[in-house]
Amino acid sequence: MARLTWHGHATFTLETDTGHRVMIDPFLDDNPVADVRADEAGHLDYILCSHGHFDHFADAIPLAKRTGAMVVGTFELVEFALSQGVAHGHGMNVGGGHQFDFGYLKLTPALHTGTIAGDDEGRYTSTPTGLWLDLGGKRLYHSGDSALIMDMQLLRGRVDIALLPIGDNFTMGPEDAVRAVEFIEPRVVIPMHYNTWELIAQDPRGFRDRVGSRAEVVILEPGGSYDF
Ligand SMILES: [Zn+2]
Repeated sequence: MARLTWHGHATFTLETDTGHRVMIDPFLDDNPVADVRADEAGHLDYILCSHGHFDHFADAIPLAKRTGAMVVGTFELVEFALSQGVAHGHGMNVGGGHQFDFGYLKLTPALHTGTIAGDDEGRYTSTPTGLWLDLGGKRLYHSGDSALIMDMQLLRGRVDIALLPIGDNFTMGPEDAVRAVEFIEPRVVIPMHYNTWELIAQDPRGFRDRVGSRAEVVILEPGGSYDF
């Protein structure tokens, strides 16, 4: 049984059937709704980052240094992490996949903007991505901070659990997230990237009503888990 725990915003911890602990988009210490601080996050084997904005990357470097976890993301994002003293990194790029010991990861297109928090000299670019994971046949898609894009149609039939933003303003809002569900046809949808701040306040139950019978919408509270 794999377990996915939401920490608020776009941050999740994934405990895989292979016994690995993988954190996605770590944003804990400055995240007003997070259930844990970075120093309470426990052991991590991998840190996957969809892009370099602070609300997805702020705790990646300190967590990687403390836990020895490998940072995975776009080539430039990983190069930046390595330049800051992170010991282990694996750079990839959009459309590329790699078989890790915890599962297979492919970086998918996402439409958003990109800077890297902490890159004060602006030497590194940050192309936002989504994360598509195949964990022994259980397929998980974390869209990152994307707009609704036609590319999501390419995922139809290839996603069991979709993690989609509904916050609006910076990402898809509920209406476009429903269309993303129509594009992807996942079995389960978990909304994310909402209620972190007033600007992205949303009612996830309203989103669940709009999705209707298209998919099962699982609403997590920060600290809540979904087993699959
Ligand atoms: Zn974001």
